[in-house]
Parts: sequence; C-alpha cells; structure tokens
Amino acid sequence: MNFDKMYINGEWIKSDGKEWIEVENPATKKIIEKVPRGNQEDVDFAVKSAKEAFENWSNTPLEERISMVKALGDELKARTKDLTRYVMEELGRSEDYALNSHIIPYIDNIDDYINLTKEYEFEKEESNYYIRKEPYGVVVAITPWNYPFGQVTKKIIPALLTGNTVILKPSQYTPLVTYIIAEAVDKVGFPKGVFNLLIGRGSEVGDMLSKHQDVDLVTFTGSTSAGIKIGTQAMKDVKKVTLELGGKSPAIILKGADIDIALKKTLDSVYNNTGQTCIAFTRLLVPQEDKETIEKKVVEKTKEYSFGDPQTAYRMIGPVISKRQFDNITSYIKKGIEEGATLLFGEIPESDKTGYYIGPVVFTDVKNHMTIAQEEIFGPVLCIITYKDKEEAIKIANDTIFGLSAGVFGLEKEVKEVANKIKAGIVVTNTGEFNHNAPFGGYKHSGIGREGGKEGLEEFLQIKTIFK
Ligand code: NAP
Ligand code: MG
Repeated sequence: MNFDKMYINGEWIKSDGKEWIEVENPATKKIIEKVPRGNQEDVDFAVKSAKEAFENWSNTPLEERISMVKALGDELKARTKDLTRYVMEELGRSEDYALNSHIIPYIDNIDDYINLTKEYEFEKEESNYYIRKEPYGVVVAITPWNYPFGQVTKKIIPALLTGNTVILKPSQYTPLVTYIIAEAVDKVGFPKGVFNLLIGRGSEVGDMLSKHQDVDLVTFTGSTSAGIKIGTQAMKDVKKVTLELGGKSPAIILKGADIDIALKKTLDSVYNNTGQTCIAFTRLLVPQEDKETIEKKVVEKTKEYSFGDPQTAYRMIGPVISKRQFDNITSYIKKGIEEGATLLFGEIPESDKTGYYIGPVVFTDVKNHMTIAQEEIFGPVLCIITYKDKEEAIKIANDTIFGLSAGVFGLEKEVKEVANKIKAGIVVTNTGEFNHNAPFGGYKHSGIGREGGKEGLEEFLQIKTIFK
C-alpha cells in the first residue's frame, strides 16, 4: 500500500501541498509511514467532488446502494489481515486484540446497518400528508484514533446507505487503516466522489471542513473541547451536527450486587484498549461499609489483566497513542496524588525508550470533586469513591458534566430504578451486554445525536413533509 496520496473523486491523488505527517507506532516509537498533510486546495477539491456526486448517488435506487455497501463489506472482510495489521502498528495493539476488538465487530455491524436500511420506511403515509426521509448531502466524518476502524465505519456506512456522499477525515495519528477502506471502496467501484479520504491535521483540514459552506452535515467523534469548537463553527451556516464526545462514566455497586460481575464489567471497560475507550467506567462507586472488601478485590483482579509489549503476546493494556497522551495521563496521576487520593495500585508512569506504556492505576479515597474524578483521563486509571446510601450514589454518579455511559450492579428490583435515574445515554446493568446495533451516544457534554441502530441511521436523514 502506498500512503503518499489521498483518495478523492474516485482517484488516488497527490496532495496539493508538499508537507507530510509522520505516523508513529506507539509500542516502539518507530516512524512507520508518512502521509500527506492536506491543505485548503485538497479540502475544496474533496468537497466539490462530494457535492457533484450527491445528485446521482442520492437518486440511485436503494437496492443498488445497498448492494454496493454490501460489496464494500465483503471487500473489507477480504482485507481483514491488512486492517488488523495497521491497527496493530498505528495504535500499538496485539494482533488478536486488534482483530477481535477493533475489526471483526465493526465489519459484522455493516450487515446490521444494511438490514436496518432494507426495513426502513423512507416514505410514510399520514392523514393528509406523507413524510419522506431524504439524505442531507455532503457528510464530513471526523474520527478519533482510539478505534481507528470502528469509529469510521459507524459513520460512513449509514451515511452512504442513506444516499449521502462522504468525506472522511481520520485522526492524523491513525490514518493508515483508512487507506485500506479507500482501497476497498475503489475496488467496489462506487461512483467517483461518493467517498473521499482526506488526510491531514484536525486543526487544519478538520477545521476547514467544518467551516466549508458546501458541507451539509458534520459527524464528529472525539474530545468535548474539539467537538464544541467544530460544532460551533458548523452551526454558523446551519449544518447538521452530531457529536460523540468524552465521558467520565460511573459504575455503581449497590448493596446485594454480585461484586465479581460488577468488577469484571468495570475493569474490562477501564483497562480495555489501555483505557482509551470513551465509555469506560472510570468512577467506581461503592458502599462505604464494603470499601475494604472491594478494594482488595479490585487489586486482585487488576493483576489479572495483561500489560506489556503488544508485539509479543495478547495484551489488553500496553502503550497509549502518543507522547502527548502519555504526558497528559501521567500528569493526571500526579494530580491525583497531590489532591490527596490514595494510590492503591500502580505507579507514576516512567517514560522509557521503547514506547508510551502506561500500566493500570487505581486510586481510592477519591472525592467526586477532585480533578481525577471530574476530567476524562483517557488512560487505564480507575477512581474508587464511596457513598452512604443509594440516593447519594445516584447524586455522585450524575455529578459530572458528562453523560455517556454508566454501569449499575445490584438486585434486579433496584437496578432498574437506579438506571432510570442516571443521566447518561447508555446504561449497562448486571450481566447486560453491549450491542453495536443499539443506539449509542451521550447526554450533557458527552454529545448530540446517536450512532447505531435505527436512531443512528436517522441522523443522516432529514424530514420532508408533503401535503396532498
Ligand atoms: P480529538 O483531539 O478531539 O480528535 C478527534 C478528531 O478531531 C481527530 O480526527 C482530530 O484530528 C480532529 N480534530 C481535533 N481538533 C480539531 C479541530 N480544531 N477542528 C477539526 N477537527 C479537529 O480527540 P482524540 O484525542 O482523537 O480522541 C479522544 C477523545 O475522543 C476522548 O475525549 C474520547 O472520549 C472521545 N471519544 C468519544 C467517543 C464517543 O463515541 N462518544 C468515541 C471515541 C472517542 P487530528 O487527530 O488529526 O488532530
Ligand atoms: Mg446548511
């Protein structure tokens, strides 16, 4: 694969600029590739191509669009090895982890979107009118590095199925895997301009795209700060905006909960992907009287998680994406100690020559007002917070600017009541399993809109009412 071009208007083209962005493997700190640093000319060309392609693509019979997206899914499946390889290299994951957590579930999810589209009522008769659901036009998808394949497919697949044309701007830290997507698009033979891959820095081409007057919808996943900036800009000319942002999600262990199940769910979510998962339950709320018992179990179970070099064995925890993230997370860990929290497990990370490794860290005696309990750390760091009674647990859980997800563990009759009172877009209760075909998104500063399920599809459709 050549990484010196971008895929625009159905062709691999050189960037108009002459500058490059280096892509680093965070497990080794080795520069593995360089990709073009796109500029305004590239942005204008991509938007023009997507705009010109829209008329035909939106009027292409649904069955045809579906069969092209199905063919794209097949082409991606055939490229599983390459997709896995680039996630391993640019994100620093072990092979089986990259394959099973980053690739397979998202390829499978393409069929879910296809099935939903087949069943979807694009026209609906009402009393003296009917409603038509129509695509918006040019969709810009700006995606983060933490799930470099899955965050992309969750946007481009429903956008294409519903008849929009797409410009994908992946994170500059993980662009390589998206070249394989563009290669698959090219193989299928989508009409030119229907899918475009624009490579560059978020603060540059991402910013230009969110301002561009011929863009109709911006779908963004990333940090709350960047989301607010992009959303504000996009709103200046009334673009549709969807935002999937950060979180500081609580897991509540209620009296009578199965503690082993609760800790398995919590720790899996916190250590998964070296803590770089937006829905991680990073605040563990425990009854005051069970504090010691639960702390002991957390330490025991934390030791069972595999940490280390992803190139030698299966690892759930390894390097974080970049020096910037390494420094960020390290300063949060120091901050936690300064704020008076107790470091129950782990240590202040030390930079080493090989990679940006951060092992699991557990704080206890955390107060919810502390910085480590309020801000998203995006590393494998857990905060244990005690509560007196159920009402206080709910209050602490909701005392955050975020509202992405939550875990509630306890007796059946209580979990429902508590789950209903949590201000978050997703709640996992007891043995409940996450499902990619269900709507996903945040309350409060965690976002606007949903991905996944029928609700996710509908974000890419606008409503026309026709009176007859
Ligand atoms: P980020 O810095 O906000 O970047 C996300 C994307 O936005 C990247 O493509 C980035 O490009 C681009 N970008 C950054 N600044 C921009 C700007 N001023 N204008 C336009 N585009 C800009 O976030 P991140 O560090 O990659 O990802 C971590 C964050 O994402 C965490 O807060 C996490 O919770 C959140 N996240 C949320 C979800 C969810 O579904 N709710 C899922 C995953 C991650 P460059 O990378 O090229 O700079
Ligand atoms: Mg508009």
